[in-house]
Amino acid sequence: MDESYLMHEIKIHDKVFIPYITFEEIDYAIKRMANTIYEEHKNDVPVFVGVLNGVVMFMSDFLKRYPGECEISFLKLKSYEGTESTGKVEIVMDIPMDLTGRHVIIMEDIIDTGNTLQELYRILDTKNTKSIKIATLLYKPEAYKKNLNIDLIALTIPDKFVVGYGLDYDGLGRNLPDIYQIKTEE
Ligand code: 5GP
Ligand code: MG
Ligand code: MG
Repeated sequence: MDESYLMHEIKIHDKVFIPYITFEEIDYAIKRMANTIYEEHKNDVPVFVGVLNGVVMFMSDFLKRYPGECEISFLKLKSYEGTESTGKVEIVMDIPMDLTGRHVIIMEDIIDTGNTLQELYRILDTKNTKSIKIATLLYKPEAYKKNLNIDLIALTIPDKFVVGYGLDYDGLGRNLPDIYQIKTEE
């Protein structure tokens, strides 16, 4: 079957998006990240804490690539409306698991301003974990405004809005297997 039709320009709501990162490139970066984390945690059982909803695709592909023992848990936050961060982070669902004494790795779809990350860190800091690391599929260094160190980054991207591979634009686009970038007139 010819699958190239999946990589054309697409329209979601009122905006046009262009193909940007293919699933093959994403998968390669995830494999590399999984091996790096495994090297640091082969002698313990880390807990991967995914931030819903954006992390679903990344988390499931990452777990298939992780070669060691691990546990998983999720929490749900909300910070974005449309294509702009609102700056306010809301906890919609807290982590339903005791993290006392555990090595926790926060799994994020994307780190933009860092507002969400800072709030996440504040939440996890109250849970008596043994360690906290931050892993993200995508990172926008030009937009990042915080001082928290990001331990693991799969892919670094410019400060442009992206969709696909779990990331949405007002609810749509999460099921696209590749990542698309917003089309802007230059
Ligand atoms: P931050 O709090 O770092 O500004 O933003 C974090 C959250 O905003 C992400 O978890 C994601 O939900 C959303 N976000 C930030 N940048 C983008 C983007 O380029 N595309 C999409 N779809 N969501 C984004
Ligand atoms: Mg997120
Ligand atoms: Mg969103």
